[in-house]
Amino acid sequence: MVEVVGFDADDTLWQCQDTFDDAERLFLETVSPYASPGVDLKGVLRTTELSNLAISGYGVKAFGLSMIEAAVTSSAGAIPSRDIGILVDRINDMLREPVKLLDGVADALHAVAQTHRIVMITKGDLFHQTRKVQNSGLHHLFEHVKVVLEKDVSTYRAVLNEWGISPSTFVMVGNSVRSDILPIVELGGFGLHIPYHVTWEHEVVDAPKGTFCTVASISDVAEWLAAEHQS
Ligand SMILES: [Mg+2]
Repeated sequence: MVEVVGFDADDTLWQCQDTFDDAERLFLETVSPYASPGVDLKGVLRTTELSNLAISGYGVKAFGLSMIEAAVTSSAGAIPSRDIGILVDRINDMLREPVKLLDGVADALHAVAQTHRIVMITKGDLFHQTRKVQNSGLHHLFEHVKVVLEKDVSTYRAVLNEWGISPSTFVMVGNSVRSDILPIVELGGFGLHIPYHVTWEHEVVDAPKGTFCTVASISDVAEWLAAEHQS
């Protein structure tokens, strides 16, 4: 019986990946005139991001540093500082960008909050994520909010333990099968996947079938919970 519903935030409650994809397009456009011949710019950016994950973690600031590093290395240092400035401006724009809630989110959360305790577990930059939560207008609905470094089994175990929530009474709702669903299923909880139209390559996994449910939209969560209670 589900008592507590955990929500992911980025690309589950509000838009996120689209702005990273836009910034990546700006990176390609800005750096390509200076790139060394034969350099796969997208590949360099991806490799730089992944190799920096362990030291910088997730989020806009980590992505921005990787973008600048990739601009310098892929141009063998030839990129002018005014072009680096264009990339820095975009990162600052991303950090200042207002929260864009996805369709139906406010109504869906209010509906779920009528019948269940709700919490948020999101990963990324503590400062930026916290500000987004505060600016979302939904902060008051959540019993707990946690920004974590990584969404894996040991992190979820520690967070649920801290909050006194048994995994068997918990469902995690999110757009990433890798981060939001599989670790919770492994802990003995429920996963409810809501696909988003774009997914960061790092989050794409081959998911085992039959271990979790998928709904088309956040507006379907309350109905899923009601059906789960009857089964
Ligand atoms: Mg997400």
